[in-house]
Amino acid sequence: MSPALDHGLPVAQPLSRGLRYHGTMYVIHCGTLVDGVREAPIDDGRVVAENGRVVDAGPADEVDVPEDAEPIDHSRETVIPGLIDAHLHLWGSRSMEPFDWLRESSELGTARATADLRTLLTAGFTTVRDVGSETGLALREAVDDGTIPGPRVFTSWRSLSQTGGHGDSHYLPYEWATGEAAGAGLADGADECRKEARKRIREGVDLIKIMTTGGVLSEKDAPDQSQFTDEEIRAFTEEAHRVGIPVASHAQGAPGIKSALRNGVDTIEHGFYIDEECLELFEETGAVFVPTLSIMHRLVTEGADHGVPEYGLEKARNARDAHWDATRRAYEAGIPIALGTDFIGPDLVPHGMNAMEAELFVEEIGMSEHEAILAGTATAAKTVAADDIGTLEEGNYADFVAFEDSPLEDISNLREPDTVYKGGEAVGL
Ligand SMILES: [Zn+2]
Repeated sequence: MSPALDHGLPVAQPLSRGLRYHGTMYVIHCGTLVDGVREAPIDDGRVVAENGRVVDAGPADEVDVPEDAEPIDHSRETVIPGLIDAHLHLWGSRSMEPFDWLRESSELGTARATADLRTLLTAGFTTVRDVGSETGLALREAVDDGTIPGPRVFTSWRSLSQTGGHGDSHYLPYEWATGEAAGAGLADGADECRKEARKRIREGVDLIKIMTTGGVLSEKDAPDQSQFTDEEIRAFTEEAHRVGIPVASHAQGAPGIKSALRNGVDTIEHGFYIDEECLELFEETGAVFVPTLSIMHRLVTEGADHGVPEYGLEKARNARDAHWDATRRAYEAGIPIALGTDFIGPDLVPHGMNAMEAELFVEEIGMSEHEAILAGTATAAKTVAADDIGTLEEGNYADFVAFEDSPLEDISNLREPDTVYKGGEAVGL
């Protein structure tokens, strides 16, 4: 958890709602175990779990196995904590055309996102952080009460932008973009920002998502332009931190990254133009960086075949090299980097292929396979206000994934889990 959240205030407990566990104690025999804590994978590991929680985990000779523990054999497999995508959108969209995003009903989006959640879970993602959607709050509840299968959902619900900012649909006339159907989350001035944050907190969000720079898929702004004033950003972070939830900022240009970090934002999303001063601010604040290389990779390599507007393609092409370079420098500086894809559902950026981000970390950024797995587990868990996911430590949820072909040998195997366990129960694949 970043220092911004370490302020002694009560932290929301978003994981305690209505999950079902079976009571049997069991021991998982692991060929290789990544527990998310140790510096290196463990050969011949054991995990003991009961009531959906980890009792103990580590090397076989260090873990006490109670006599009545039921054995589960993954002794020829690699076992890792459940994967976490720290930046996606539960939009249920199947198009990259911005007009379709407005034209389609939220009911259709919810139905498709329900299917996306099942796909994510079977792909090994036992937790997702939804950083902007209409559907996140309802889906979170339906997963938690056992109605639909899916990962644990942490959601910001609707994100927040200034007028004319990244979240404003400025390809439309103002009256349309701000109409009821568009669902715009626009706020200007510290008082309005404070009120919008409070409205979201009233609805039970797990985090607040704001935009402190322009972006790629917004027509009339640019990634390097900063958005929201210091006072506006502070209004969001003060309100969020008072109830123990973090603030995530879409921030691509250096000035907008700095204003976010100086004013208490906990995670920086995208970060295309991180400079030396940004790196120092990351270090000072302990903020987590979520680069979302996957959407950039897909936009640049295949976006033209999927109906992405030309302005988006051009901005992506212009920013791609800087984005890769920024991520490498952040990695070399030891900034915590979390796996997040920015996937939203269409074929170009489909849920289910989210492990692609770990492949890009290894192939393009220079992480080891083990480091890339930690980015998608222990580090990704730091982007939300929960301390019982992301690692297989005593008391944490028994969320883990077993692989016959080890992702430690070839990171592309991360896309092919054999068994996924959420809260100690195997997910039907
Ligand atoms: Zn996003």
